[in-house]
Amino acid sequence: SELRTKKKDIINGFHCICFFECVDFVLESLKGARVLVTGASSGIGEQMAYHYARFGAQIVITARREKVLQQVAEKCLSLGAQKALHIAADMANESDPERVVDFALEKLGGLDYLVLNHIGPTTFGMWEGDVEHTRWLMKVNFFSYIQMAWRALPSLEQSKGSLVVVSSVLGKMTNPFTLPYSSTKFALSGFFGSLYHELAMKKSNVSISVCTLGLIDTDSAMDKVRGITKVPAYPATEAALNIIIAGATRQLDLYYPWFTQVITLIKDWSPSGGVTLDRSPVCRRATQRHTTMHTHSHLGRI
Ligand code: NAP
Repeated sequence: SELRTKKKDIINGFHCICFFECVDFVLESLKGARVLVTGASSGIGEQMAYHYARFGAQIVITARREKVLQQVAEKCLSLGAQKALHIAADMANESDPERVVDFALEKLGGLDYLVLNHIGPTTFGMWEGDVEHTRWLMKVNFFSYIQMAWRALPSLEQSKGSLVVVSSVLGKMTNPFTLPYSSTKFALSGFFGSLYHELAMKKSNVSISVCTLGLIDTDSAMDKVRGITKVPAYPATEAALNIIIAGATRQLDLYYPWFTQVITLIKDWSPSGGVTLDRSPVCRRATQRHTTMHTHSHLGRI
């Protein structure tokens, strides 16, 4: 039986080596790949741009702040990107999503990866009926994604390319305090999950990867949750690399960190998602902070 255990260990080790070699091989194929990354002026998008650059890709990055994009693009070139171009755009504008895709298609001569990652800023607090903000956020976080995907599909079809959508665990389970954001992420899961089936029915060459992330240590996320949660935040650079691997290996789903998948699996076991939020200290602190923020914003207006 000792021999059998050893044999098993060797086979497992062999599988691990094969897996990592396969990932290495796929990542090497990113050299010269034509990539468009949205929301790349900060956070996970910026880290993805740097990883793609290290792999020698040709990159177009976009967000609203032109100066910051320029600095990110310069760093990409110094890290080894074959090309690093940027284009400033506001995804709340009707025509910007298509303008950005057209720019990338023209400058790179086609696309191998479209990585949809940007999000508009939103509040963290109780829903107080701000329908206008939710409508605006839907434009930025959802409608621009489907516009860009549709515009890029013919080129991705030609290149046997990949569509990568960055989403959140809050797009799979309901929670208080992030209603507009959560709604946009649920919409993404519904749309791109269904598009996956239609592409399969059409025997399309394009792969779709929907990436479900837990809490990641970007400045914008940490500013919102600081002092109100003890949930560990995972590194943006590692999240970025996992997203890139998911796209390059044409994985349909990525869960990062891994336990977000367990959370989404067990969420339906109890109506409250297993947490009595209204009595939890997290909820009390968030409600207190929300009340304070609300009071401040009213004072600000006065
Ligand atoms: P982030 O640091 O806030 O970055 C957001 C990016 O979107 C920035 O580059 C921002 O640049 C751009 N952006 C904002 N409004 C825009 C607009 N109207 N038009 C075009 N671009 C706009 O976000 P992050 O934390 O890295 O999150 C990246 C992705 O991961 C998102 O899809 C998010 O939902 C997902 N995610 C993050 C976490 C987390 O804990 N961080 C958890 C789960 C999922 P400008 O300001 O220059 O426009």
